[in-house]
Formats: sequence, C-alpha cells, structure tokens
Amino acid sequence: TGIEELLLSRIRDVADYPEPGVMFKDITPLLADPAAFTALTGALADIATSTGATKVVGLEARGFILGAPVAVRAGLGFIPVRKAGKLPGATLSQAYDLEYGSAEIEVHAEDLSADDRILVVDDVLATGGTAEASIELIRRAGAEVAGLAVLMELGFLSGRARLEPALGGAPLEAL
Ligand code: 5GP
Repeated sequence: TGIEELLLSRIRDVADYPEPGVMFKDITPLLADPAAFTALTGALADIATSTGATKVVGLEARGFILGAPVAVRAGLGFIPVRKAGKLPGATLSQAYDLEYGSAEIEVHAEDLSADDRILVVDDVLATGGTAEASIELIRRAGAEVAGLAVLMELGFLSGRARLEPALGGAPLEAL
C-alpha cells in the first residue's frame, strides 16, 4: 500500500550499529518528514481506536516519540514505561533477559487500573523481549492489553511467535 512504501522509504539501514553484524533500522528520517510522521501516527491512532484502547503505553525511548502523538490523536492518555530508576513515584518493575545480561523496566502503578485496556506502542519489534516484559507489567498492574502496535517488525527474529502467549489473542499490528 501507499503508506507502507512511504514509511519504508523513510527508514534508514545503518550497518554495524550498535555493534558489528547488526543492521540497525534508523527511524529519524521518518520523524523528520512531516508527511511520513503524520501518516505513521495517524495509522497507529486508528489501531488504538479500533482495538478499543483506553490508554497508550509507550516504551522508552522511541516508543515515547510515537506513543505520545498517537495518544493525543486518539484522544487517550499516555503512560511511559521507563528503564528502571527514572520514575519518581511508586512503581511496578519487570526484569527481562537480554542477549548479554538483563534489563529492567518500570511503570507508575497508579497510572494503570483494572478498567484500562492498553495499547502498547514501540518503533521496532526485534526479539520481543521488551514488549513481552511490558505486557507482563501491564497485566501485573491489573489492566488488560488491547494490543501491541509497532512501526516495524523484524520478522527474522521471531518476536511475533515469542509474544503469542503473552498477548493471549490480543492483536500485534506492524505497519
Ligand atoms: P527487542 O526487545 O524486541 O529485542 O528489541 C526491541 C527494542 O529495541 C525496541 O524498544 C526498539 O526500539 C529497540 N530496537 C531493536 N532493534 C532496533 C532497530 O534496528 N532499530 C530501532 N529503531 N530500534 C531497535
């Protein structure tokens, strides 16, 4: 479709970043192009609406850049899921494994309630570890997951299969 071509044309492949052998998908050209950025946030906002989400969770850091305008365009609140140690209030945290070592993400517990249906937004789905931990966090906070929406899915890393149990039937949309 037209939007797929527009979005793809604004994503830059950067070889050997952040380490040798990795082809990094750089979305900054897309963000700098008003037509592409507007099309992207509009398409993600449509997903927020169609999934019946009540709030948008954005994953630090590029999930903030996309998730905040998506929330505004869909008329919803925005909740940041941050790397550990950044949020000042009472948090829930979730640790997850990386290729080397582990990471931890947090959310303000009071931002999520049992009435909420959450659309999780991020730029790139790679192994699915970050998204899986965020879904776990949302569930532990008592809220429901309406779905996961990303700009781009790196299919060869099989994140979609990994996320199936965590999503429990909620949609995973990759533009
Ligand atoms: P995962 O946990 O799925 O392995 O990695 C996804 C996280 O790492 C996302 O938050 C995403 O922003 C970041 N990430 C991994 N690979 C890339 C990439 O090639 N490009 C961009 N922009 N982000 C990536």
